[in-house]
Amino acid sequence: MEFQKFDFRPQVAAGVKAAGYITPTPIQAQAIPPVMQGRDVMGLAQTGTGKTAAFVLPILDRLMQGPRGRVRALVIAPTRELAEQIHQAVQGLGRETRLRSVAVYGGVSAHLQAEKLRRGAEIVIACPGRLLDHIGQRNVALSGLEMLVLDEADRMFDMGFLPDIRRIMKHVPVKRQTLLFSATMPDDIRGLAREVLREPVTIQVDHTAPLDTVSHALYPVGQHLKTPLLVGLLRQTGTGPVLVFTRTKHRAKRVADQLLMAGYRTAALQGNLSQNRRQAALNGFRSGAYQVLVATDIAARGIDVSGISHVINYDMPDSADAYTHRIGRTGRAAKTGDAFTFVTREDETMVRSIERVLGEKVERRLLEGFDYKRPAPHGETEFVRQPRQPYRREERLKAPKLRNFPGDKGR
Ligand code: AMP
Repeated sequence: MEFQKFDFRPQVAAGVKAAGYITPTPIQAQAIPPVMQGRDVMGLAQTGTGKTAAFVLPILDRLMQGPRGRVRALVIAPTRELAEQIHQAVQGLGRETRLRSVAVYGGVSAHLQAEKLRRGAEIVIACPGRLLDHIGQRNVALSGLEMLVLDEADRMFDMGFLPDIRRIMKHVPVKRQTLLFSATMPDDIRGLAREVLREPVTIQVDHTAPLDTVSHALYPVGQHLKTPLLVGLLRQTGTGPVLVFTRTKHRAKRVADQLLMAGYRTAALQGNLSQNRRQAALNGFRSGAYQVLVATDIAARGIDVSGISHVINYDMPDSADAYTHRIGRTGRAAKTGDAFTFVTREDETMVRSIERVLGEKVERRLLEGFDYKRPAPHGETEFVRQPRQPYRREERLKAPKLRNFPGDKGR
């Protein structure tokens, strides 16, 4: 199947061509026709499947006809990075449409956003909190809204945005087309879907299993040897863009500093950074100025950097879903990638849950030539953590009691 089948208006087809897309991804092939027909859609798809274009292209196509200068499409996203990326996708795919899009999120001046909104835009991409501020200050009117997209709904729920979304819903017309995308479908999202969607078409694309272009491996290691192992792996894997995940902001900063000291051009991406510094870190990673980006889950949400060769989980993610989200950063749109996960003894329960989602056992590897017996370097004590409980309740009920491991004591 090719994009011509969708019969987009020439200005939209030009955007597809400029982006270099030839074959629609499965979510695009399934979602675009019903969206073009005006149906509500519930899409079960994670980042990396091409879901952004699946809603951006039909939005652009529809808005080519009808009034300009008022907000007719609103996309709500959980993080500024994701909002910014959707905005960039609209700008790229809509380059010939003369439609205007404004990205609205916190951490940067609200004044500039207000000005852009007042100047008139047809598409708004927003994080919930800042959008409510602008609605409250009457910088934006949503009474003419025709299309509403809730992107990464499960993550919005995780981040506590559901009340904000319900508040926003009071400002949008009842008669509208609504699309809801989510990587998972917990009960709360099902409830939200029932509230906001009307007779939706449901589309599901591999909603839990990560892209099979990614190969997975586990590296068992003691807490105190994680950084030396990371350096050892980086030496072996070369300098392709590597994304490293840590559990906390503090650890992200600490690991980034250690990699810098080991001679790798590294940036940390964590929630404490100002928007400018986050953008600089991301831009530097995209351009290759940084070889390694160390990030927390929240900060990395929605990162779209093509050609990431390795995702390394320095710390085990909190859930199997978080694992697939992290891994979604590599192997995007048919590129291949490797996903390495450091495993300490207390992570074994989570490993089993990830293996269940992947449907197979993941290979355990040891790094050749690495001294696994070396003692903890002085000053590594803050890298101790408590065993984490699995994320899902049903898994928690099944999980065996975690034991302490004498070898990890005092670290
Ligand atoms: P998304 O899941 O929307 O974040 O998209 C993941 C990546 O796939 C982005 O870099 C898109 O530019 C790219 N992409 C989306 N659709 C296609 C397509 N049909 N062909 C090739 N690449 C695509």
